[in-house]
Amino acid sequence: MKAATVTKNKDVAIQDKTLRPLKSGEAKLKMICCGVCHTDLHVKNGDFGDVSGVTLGHEGIGVVTEVADDVTSLKVGDRASVAWFFEGCGHCEYCNSGRETFCREVKNAGYTVDGGMAEECIVTADYAVKVPDGLDSAAASSITCAGVTTYKAIKVSKIQPGQWIAIYGLGGLGNLALQYAKNVFNAKVIAVDINDDQLKLAESMGADLVLNSARDKVEDIIQEKTGGAHAAVVTAVAKSAFNSAVACVRAGGRIVAIALPNDSMDLSIPRLVLDGIEVVGSLVGTREDLKEAFQFGAEGKVVPKVALRPIEDINAIFDEMLAGKFTGRMVIDLNTESKH
Ligand SMILES: [Zn+2]
Ligand SMILES: [Zn+2]
Repeated sequence: MKAATVTKNKDVAIQDKTLRPLKSGEAKLKMICCGVCHTDLHVKNGDFGDVSGVTLGHEGIGVVTEVADDVTSLKVGDRASVAWFFEGCGHCEYCNSGRETFCREVKNAGYTVDGGMAEECIVTADYAVKVPDGLDSAAASSITCAGVTTYKAIKVSKIQPGQWIAIYGLGGLGNLALQYAKNVFNAKVIAVDINDDQLKLAESMGADLVLNSARDKVEDIIQEKTGGAHAAVVTAVAKSAFNSAVACVRAGGRIVAIALPNDSMDLSIPRLVLDGIEVVGSLVGTREDLKEAFQFGAEGKVVPKVALRPIEDINAIFDEMLAGKFTGRMVIDLNTESKH
């Protein structure tokens, strides 16, 4: 079967791989599609260490074709996910307290184990989340990473209906954050970006206040118009966005970080203490979070913007990603049978 594999020269090659037989607890998926994420770019470039030989992909959706004898959570014919949070140890303090993505022995699809950018993929059945009927597979693939990450971030922000939440960066992640914040959490959304096209899209999706940080005094305007945001979610890969988020919230506000620039942020200790603000990081989402994020997608509350591409386009997609040529999610179409 075809698999998009990381090579020694920081490229991705489409190689022919043969899957090993299933072990206890595992299921085999015939892949339908798999989204391409910015994290895949880091993985193939070796930014997190040399993982040449691994199959990429942590936004995979496939159909179960085989399960090990002891599997009860999935059956043949189910659609299920291949996510970055591929498997936790199941017995540590994080796994047992609803924070399984922080498990110290976590396995990550398309990084520490073979991922879903292939015609077939082996998953740990109890960790692959079922896709509900009525949710398109390409949309589900986007929710498997970008969707659940933003959904979880809004949850972590503890925003209440009618409260103001600032979203920094309205690209692939921010766009979904806006939809979850508005359509699921009933919050009022402030969209902050430097790109007018992204902001126009945010406005059309119901953003209540739209600010361009390249020309607007974002923090002053937010403080003046809303009395300070109750929370902020940072999806923009820029230190300035983190600093602005700290300045835009009201006393008691919460800043949730999901973007990952390799940098430090400025945080005044008086601001932290005297205003009781909180700064917290959020990492993808648990299986339960993904189940919920899928369900809101199935109900049409959140609609990811996706485009299907053949697996052979993978290196071109990375070039386009670096050049900022697309706004939605590129999804590799692995459902080869549909074309014959
Ligand atoms: Zn991802
Ligand atoms: Zn664990």
